Amino acid sequence: MMAASNVLLNTAQVSKILNITLNNVQRLNKEGYLAVNEITDLKNGKMYLYSNKQVDSLIPLIPRIKKHWQQNDDYIHGASKLARQRNKRHQSYQHKLGLKKTFLENIAFLPEYRQKILRSSYFLFHLNHYAKTGNYYLYDLKELVLYAFVQYYHKNNDILQISFTQGNNKTILCPSCKARAKDQNLSYIEYLDNNGGCSKCTKQYNYYSLYEFLIDDCDYYFCFHIPYYSAKKWFKNAGITIVEKTNMQQEGATAFGRTIYESEARAVELVEVINELQYFISEFGIEPLFETYFPM
Ligand SMILES: [Zn+2]
Repeated sequence: MMAASNVLLNTAQVSKILNITLNNVQRLNKEGYLAVNEITDLKNGKMYLYSNKQVDSLIPLIPRIKKHWQQNDDYIHGASKLARQRNKRHQSYQHKLGLKKTFLENIAFLPEYRQKILRSSYFLFHLNHYAKTGNYYLYDLKELVLYAFVQYYHKNNDILQISFTQGNNKTILCPSCKARAKDQNLSYIEYLDNNGGCSKCTKQYNYYSLYEFLIDDCDYYFCFHIPYYSAKKWFKNAGITIVEKTNMQQEGATAFGRTIYESEARAVELVEVINELQYFISEFGIEPLFETYFPM
């Protein structure tokens, strides 16, 4: 591998290289150890990039920083309470690694086409978790994965069902309604609730409508949503009609006979999630979005 002299790294890479969680990457940034070098604007959010030189220089400092964090947190929240929490967290992490291993082993016996959608759904569920906790740019990759599902799986709808759920329209107040809201000392949302908009206000129809993707394979169940505006062209271009549904499922997964806990995501690193999903979409000729290699 070429010696990387000035490479920019995303948070997934930084977290892997320093062996810390994404939250701790943010903590390094907040405490001044790590500066954002560049910001890439993606469709769904900003991606922060860091210089590999600075990241490399932190490697020897991390044990000391972690120790400092622990002392600090112990001081604030109580050492014995945190020791119990750490112990519990470690046990649950071990447990979750076990579940992950079992899941991946079990689906390995399924026909390839089922195996692939379940495997990518599993990693997409974790991507969703990472995206929801403030890394909105990751929704760009979610869109590509769901697009690949549409391309490959919509005809075999015994495993994938896509439905449409009508949501509210979004009203953007016109300047005179905004002025009236201000006069009445109301926020725009309060004003809309009380008065609605006028004919001059702009309406975005279906703004809060969603497509729901249900991947149901008897033993495993995943549910994902995507905004109407992000996906409508996929169906229009392919001439696919989507059934409308009135009640929406909660987004999530029951891969292990129950809903996956949020903390389960910690057993699955973001770098692995991105690698898996980008490999999956590459089989449909879709280019990767994020770097996941490690410059030496
Ligand atoms: Zn108006």
